[in-house]
Amino acid sequence: MTTKKYDLIIIGAGPIGLESALYAAECGLNFLILEREQPSASLNKWGFVRMFSSMAMNVSPLGARILNIDANGSYPTGREMKESYYDRLVALEQISSRLISGFNVKKVSRSGLLKAAHTGDNRRAEYPFKIFGTDANGWETYYEAKAVIDASGVYSNPNSLGPGGLPAIGEQTHADKISYHLRDLRRDYTRLGKTFCVVGAGHSACTMIAQFDQLTRIDNEVNVVWVTTTSHKPPAVSVPDDPLVERARVVNLANEISCGSNPRIKHLAGYWVEEIRDRSTGPLMELTLTGSDGDRGTFNADFIFALVGYRPDREIYEELQVHECFASSGPMKLAARLSEPSAGTDCLDPVEPDDDLYINPEPDFYILGSKSYGRMTNFLIRNGYDQIRSVFRRIVKDKNLDLYNRS
Ligand SMILES: Cc1cc2nc3c(=O)[nH]c(=O)nc-3n(C[C@H](O)[C@H](O)[C@H](O)COP(=O)(O)OP(=O)(O)OC[C@H]3O[C@@H](n4cnc5c(N)ncnc54)[C@H](O)[C@@H]3O)c2cc1C
Repeated sequence: MTTKKYDLIIIGAGPIGLESALYAAECGLNFLILEREQPSASLNKWGFVRMFSSMAMNVSPLGARILNIDANGSYPTGREMKESYYDRLVALEQISSRLISGFNVKKVSRSGLLKAAHTGDNRRAEYPFKIFGTDANGWETYYEAKAVIDASGVYSNPNSLGPGGLPAIGEQTHADKISYHLRDLRRDYTRLGKTFCVVGAGHSACTMIAQFDQLTRIDNEVNVVWVTTTSHKPPAVSVPDDPLVERARVVNLANEISCGSNPRIKHLAGYWVEEIRDRSTGPLMELTLTGSDGDRGTFNADFIFALVGYRPDREIYEELQVHECFASSGPMKLAARLSEPSAGTDCLDPVEPDDDLYINPEPDFYILGSKSYGRMTNFLIRNGYDQIRSVFRRIVKDKNLDLYNRS
């Protein structure tokens, strides 16, 4: 068996993988992009949700130039974004000819070198990366590359529901009655039941609560319990004079509901879901909650939306020398920058451009996109452009390279 060799392999054909591929094509690199499902798979899963970043924020200067798009300030849904932009990138010959869909990357290592060899040393770069995974037919395959960009996102790796991020007792056995992702309730919600529990206080939970607000107005049998571990009321963090109007709308609506504006959605603040059990009549499950001061209570639900965040899949690079943040599991240099008080906590707070931020102890291995933020939730597609610009300067060894500069 001969192993195919590339200058660069990109893992994941989401927004950041595709933008990286476009950049690689413009640089004339011999690259390959490996996608486990279909391009833009994550975006497609929450495709019905209106984005809070505008077209103009989401389309890169390079993409706009090549596709001749004049991106405006409109707010597309995830699916509109995919169809109007990312599908067009995928259709470009320079990308489609180098994209393999249905390829699940499982591990990356160095050909002929173990993890512990040449610790933090550039000699590791003398050994090509070896990428192991399975294609759409389940065949195991290796590829080799001089550089790897891991842009595999976090969306397929949800956190657990229970106390302190542990699984709740019974969580795994009730997996068929739990969704860790948003769902479009306009499509067949009755199959799920009438009594719902939503867990989480982030934007996904707020989006789900906003949907339930509408649903309870057209179906008077639907009832919802909204559980947040924060005891803060209202629970969702709102940004004063938020320029992201769609985000502001959803957060404000959810916060009003938490204060009692919809009597069919009850908010329980400061609780963890500790146990899930079967019921024989009525709603299918009984949930036991514990509060921060030790108080306990139960309620019933047919279906749970556990919107408690996502985490990076670290198995992909566990044979490599990646220095991870002990709190976020993101790559350390960027995590340290993001945790500086001056960095702010909102996705609009800029990360000062710095070409060294994306370097790992493992030479030529880069984690970009939402995965680069680890468990933090404030990644924006727009933040990926500085990442791509910086990393390609290293890959092509040109410290002034900037394909995003229009001049
Ligand atoms: C509900 C919701 C709304 C959001 N709204 C916005 C918004 O308005 N604006 C914004 O900027 N961001 C928004 N985000 C964040 C958004 O998801 C990211 O900005 C964007 O999708 C990040 O792109 P990415 O390429 O890093 O990851 P992803 O979009 O997750 O793409 C990763 C790709 O890698 C593939 N993959 C995963 N594992 C493997 C593997 N082992 N092998 C091969 N391929 C693999 C996946 O199938 C996927 O196609 C939102 C997120 C959610 C959940």
